Amino acid sequence: MASEAFQLGQILYDNDVNLDLIKQKKVAVIGYGSQGHAHALNLRDSGVEVVIGLRMNEGSPSFALAKKDEFKVLPTAEAAKWADVIMILVPDELQKDVYEQSIEPNLEEGNMLVFAHGFNIHFSKIVPPKNVGVFMVAPKGPGHTVRREYRLGSGVPCLVAVYQDYKDQVYDLALSYAGAIGGSKAGILKTSFKEETETDLFGEQAVLCGGLTALIKAAFETLIEAGYSHEMAYFECLHEVKLITDLVFEGGIPNMFYSVSNTAEYGAYSRGHRVIDDSIKAKMKTVLTEIQTGQFADEWLNEYSSGGKRFKELREADKNHPIERVGEMIRSKIKFSNQKDKLVN
Ligand code: NAD
Ligand code: MG
Repeated sequence: MASEAFQLGQILYDNDVNLDLIKQKKVAVIGYGSQGHAHALNLRDSGVEVVIGLRMNEGSPSFALAKKDEFKVLPTAEAAKWADVIMILVPDELQKDVYEQSIEPNLEEGNMLVFAHGFNIHFSKIVPPKNVGVFMVAPKGPGHTVRREYRLGSGVPCLVAVYQDYKDQVYDLALSYAGAIGGSKAGILKTSFKEETETDLFGEQAVLCGGLTALIKAAFETLIEAGYSHEMAYFECLHEVKLITDLVFEGGIPNMFYSVSNTAEYGAYSRGHRVIDDSIKAKMKTVLTEIQTGQFADEWLNEYSSGGKRFKELREADKNHPIERVGEMIRSKIKFSNQKDKLVN
C-alpha cells in the first residue's frame, strides 16, 4: 500500500466536555454485564443519577451484582419510563426485543436513546421515533477495563456518534456521557453509526477474534501434523502471541522487530506475506461486503432466534480443539512472566 499523507480527525479531551450536561439527566443503564456495570459505576462516581434496568430475576448474576453495588434496580420498562437517557447495554441480539417490549412504549419526547455499538440502529433492527435523540458512546475496550481505568483516574478511548439529533442537544450530551465514564481522559473520537458498526464487525471477524485464532490454530495443526510436540506448538503459535502483540501495541510493528532477533525479522519479511497473501485479502473483502450489505447481521440474528444450534456446535468444536487441552495443562503447570526481551528465536 502506498504511503499517503493523512490527517488525524479531532480528538477531544477533558477540556472539550461539559460534565454538567449528563449530571442534569436521569440515566437508566439497561443491562449490568461487561459494559453495563462499568458505565453505571463510572457515571455514578462522576455524580450522575443512575438506575439499572433488568429482568427482575433474583437468581441472575447481574441482578445480584447490581444490588451488591447498591444500585436501584427496576424492571426495564420502569427504568425506561423514569429516565431521560436510556443506555441499552443488553446483548446486541436481544436489543430489538427489549426495545420493542419495554423501552419504546415508555419513550417521551426529548428522551435520549444510547448505544455502545451501532449494530441495531445501523441495520434498522431498531427504528426509534423522530422525537428522541439517538447517540452512541462506544468505549474501545472491554467493560472491566473501562471500570479499572476510571478507578485509576484514567480512561479508555471512546467513539462518539450521533444518529439523530434533538434540538441541537445530542452531540454535546454524548461528549458529556463519554467524559463521565472516563473517555475524555484517554481521548474521544467522533465517528458515525455506519463506520463504527462496519469496522467493529470487520475487525473482530478478520483479525481480533476470527482471523487471529484461525491463524493460531492452522499453525498449531501444521506443527502437530509434522510430528512436533503439542507443548512446543502451543508455545510457538499461541503463548508468544501476547508477548509480540504487547510490543506492537506499545510502539508499532517496527518496535516489535527491534526486540526480536534479526533471524526472526528476516523470516517475517520474507515469509509473512506468503502466508497472508493477496488471496487472503480478497477473502477479507468478501467478509467486509457481507457486513456492509447486512448479510452477516441477518445471518447472526436468524441463527440466534432459531435457537443457535450451529453457533453452539461451533463453540463446542472450538473448545475441544487439541490446542485447548495442551493449553489448559501448560497454563496450570507453568508460571509465566511477562518478560519482553528476545522473544522469538
Ligand atoms: P453482556 O452479555 O456482558 O451483558 C448483558 C447484560 O444484559 C447482562 O447484565 C444481562 O443480565 C442483561 N440482559 C440480558 N437480557 C436482558 C433483558 N431481556 N432485559 C434486561 N437485561 C437483560 O453484554 P456486553 O458485552 O456488556 O454488551 C452490551 C453492549 O455493549 C452491546 O451492544 C455490545 O456490542 C457493546 N459493547 C461491548 C463491549 C465488550 O467488550 N463487551 C465493548 C464495546 C461495546
Ligand atoms: Mg469491538
